[in-house]
Amino acid sequence: MLLSVGAIALGREFMSIESPDNKKMPVLFLGHGNPMNAIQENKFTQSLNQLGENLPRPKAILMISAHWETNGVFVTGMERPKTIHDFGGFPKELFEVQYPAPGAPEIAKNVSNEIEKPNIKIDINKWGLDHGTWSVLKHIFPNADVPVFQLSLDRTKPMEFHFEMGKKLKFLREQGVMIMGSGNIVHNLKEVNWKPDAKAYDWAIEFDKWVKNKIDNKNYEPLFKEALNSQAGKLSIPTLEHYLPLLYTLGASDESDELTYDYEGIDMSSMSMRCLRFGA
Ligand code: ZN
Repeated sequence: MLLSVGAIALGREFMSIESPDNKKMPVLFLGHGNPMNAIQENKFTQSLNQLGENLPRPKAILMISAHWETNGVFVTGMERPKTIHDFGGFPKELFEVQYPAPGAPEIAKNVSNEIEKPNIKIDINKWGLDHGTWSVLKHIFPNADVPVFQLSLDRTKPMEFHFEMGKKLKFLREQGVMIMGSGNIVHNLKEVNWKPDAKAYDWAIEFDKWVKNKIDNKNYEPLFKEALNSQAGKLSIPTLEHYLPLLYTLGASDESDELTYDYEGIDMSSMSMRCLRFGA
C-alpha cells in the first residue's frame, strides 16, 4: 500500500517537471492601454491576475509589443533585459517600476536560426522590456521569474507580413514558449478621454466588434486586408503599431485551439482593452 502511494506521488512530481517542455503553450493577445495600469488595481488588472493563476508555466515568453518598432526584425538576446520606461508625463512611481525577468538568449538564437526569411537579428544592448511588456506581465507573472524576450515590429512591412510572422513563430508553442502580442485593437490617442466615466465612441465599439466577429469565425484575411477600409477602422487604427501584435497572435493560432476572451471593454473612449487567448 505504502509503495503504491509513493509511486503515485513520484509520478505526479515527474509530470510537473516535464510539463513545460511537452505541453503546447497557448498564444495570447493582451490589450495594455494606459501605462498606469501597471501600478493600479482595477477590473482589467484583476483579470490579468486571474489569467496568471490559470495559465500553464512556460519555459519562456516571447512578447511582441506595440512599443518596439524597427527597420528589419530583431529579437532581444540579452541575459538580463533592462526595464525600459518608454513614456513621458507619468508619475515618478511608474518610472520606478522594475520588471527584472531574465532574458532567453538561447531561445532568441534559435528563433533567429530557425526562421530563414526574414533575417532576424539579435539585439544584445539596445532594447530590453518596454512598458507594453512589463505593464501586463507585472500582473500575470508578478514574480518576474519566467524568462522574457521580445521580437520587434518591422515598420517597413505591410500588415500581411506580421500575420505571416506569427505563422513562422508558431513552432515555439511546442517548445514551451508562450507567445504574447501586446497592443490594443482600437487605439486612438488623439481621441482619448481622461474622464473616469468616459463613454466609448460608436466607431470604437463598431471596429472592436468587427474584429471580434472575424476572430470568432476564424476569418483572418480581412483583418490584414480590409481593416482600413471603413471609417471606423481608420479612426481605430490611425497608426498600426498597437494593432499589429494581434496579427502575430492570430498567425500563431491553430484551427484546433479553443478561443477565450479574457477581458473586453473600451477604456478612455478610444482604447479597446480586449484580451484573447488560443489554447489553454
Ligand atoms: Zn501602448
